[in-house]
Amino acid sequence: MKTQKKSSRPSGVRKATDRAKRHPDSRATLTEKRASATPAYAAQAPDTRLAPFQIRRREVRPQDVQLEILYCGVCHSDIHMARNEWKQTIYPVVPGHEIVGRVTAVGNKVTKFRSGDLAGVGVMVDSCRECVNCRKGLEQYCTVGMVLTYSARDRRTGEITQGGYSKRIVVHEDFVFRLSDALPLAGVAPLLCAGITTYSPLRHWKVGKGHKLGVVGLGGLGHMAVKFGASFGAEVTMLSTSPDKERDARRLGAHKFALTSDSAQLEKLAGYFDFIIDTVSAKHDYNAYLKLLATDGAMICVGIPPTSAEVEVFTLMGGRRSLAASGIGGIPETQEMLDYCAEHGITSDIELIDIASINDAYARMLKSDVRYRFVIDMASLT
Ligand SMILES: [Zn+2]
Ligand SMILES: [Zn+2]
Repeated sequence: MKTQKKSSRPSGVRKATDRAKRHPDSRATLTEKRASATPAYAAQAPDTRLAPFQIRRREVRPQDVQLEILYCGVCHSDIHMARNEWKQTIYPVVPGHEIVGRVTAVGNKVTKFRSGDLAGVGVMVDSCRECVNCRKGLEQYCTVGMVLTYSARDRRTGEITQGGYSKRIVVHEDFVFRLSDALPLAGVAPLLCAGITTYSPLRHWKVGKGHKLGVVGLGGLGHMAVKFGASFGAEVTMLSTSPDKERDARRLGAHKFALTSDSAQLEKLAGYFDFIIDTVSAKHDYNAYLKLLATDGAMICVGIPPTSAEVEVFTLMGGRRSLAASGIGGIPETQEMLDYCAEHGITSDIELIDIASINDAYARMLKSDVRYRFVIDMASLT
C-alpha cells in the first residue's frame, strides 16, 4: 500500500497544537460559531443563475472534519443538478463535489486528520456503512443509497447537504480523503470526481500493458481516462469528433487518434479494442463503438446521456462483447487513486476561475469550451 506523506512539519510541534484543538471542551464553542454561517453560491430554482447565498454548516460532531475549501472543481453534474435536469434537486442548491482544502477543526474522536492537513471531499459524504457493498468499500453502490455531497439529506438530521461552492464544509472523517502536498492543489480537485470515475473502471477491468484502449470524448472525464490509461501501460486511442483535439490528446498521453465522424477511419478500427471508455453524456450511437471491440472486449460507459440508448444485441453477440457502466469509486479506491496520482504526478488540466464567473463557466462547458476542467479559486468568495 502507498504511504501518505503527512506533512513536512516537525511532528512534535503539531502534536501539542492539535491536542488543544481536538479537546472536546476547549474548542467546541468556537468551532460551532465558525462553522455556522458560511458564504456560498447557490441556485434558487432551475432557471436562476447561481448567486451569493449564506448557508449554515453543522456543528463538528465527534468524528467530523471541518475543511476550509481552497478549490472546487466544476463537474457537468453540477449543471444538471443546478437546473434539476435529473429531477432530484432540493433548492436552494450549492453544487460542487470536487473539493480540496485545509482542515480547520476536527471532532474529538477523529483519528485520520489534524488541523492544518490538506484534505478532499468527493461526490458522497455518507452511506449506510452496513450493506454488502459498503462492507466491500463500494459505498457508491450502497443498497440504501449513498448520501450525495449536495442536494441530499443527512442520514442523522435530515438536513440538506450543500456542496463545495462555499467557504467551508463539515464531513465525517470516513468520507474525507488525505491529500499529498506534492501536487498543485487546484489540479487535484477534479480527481475527486472526474479522476475516480475513470480510474475505477480501468482498475476494475484491469486495463494495462498489452491492452488497446479507446477513449470516446475528450472532456473532463476523457482527458483523465487518457492520462490513466497511458499511465497504466495501455495503448490509448482517442476517439473524437473534432480534429483539433488530436494535438491535445497526444500531449495528454494518447498514442493514436481517430476521427469518429470519418466512417473510413472507424471501419479500419473494427474489432480493434480490448476496452473502450465512453465518456460522452450527450445522446449518441453506442453501436458504432461496440463494433470496434475485439472478441471479449468491453465498452464501459461513464457518461450519462439524458435518454435511453438502443443497443444491437447482434453486435454484442458477434464477439461476446460486453457493454457496462461504472459510477465514481468507493472510499478505499478513491484514496488509492489520490495516492497513485501523487506518486505519478497526475493532475487534471484546469482553467482556474473566480466564483463570480461560474455562470459563464457553465455556458462555456455546455459548448465543450473548457480544457479540461474549470476549478473555482475559493479565495474569490468573500
Ligand atoms: Zn462529478
Ligand atoms: Zn450501504
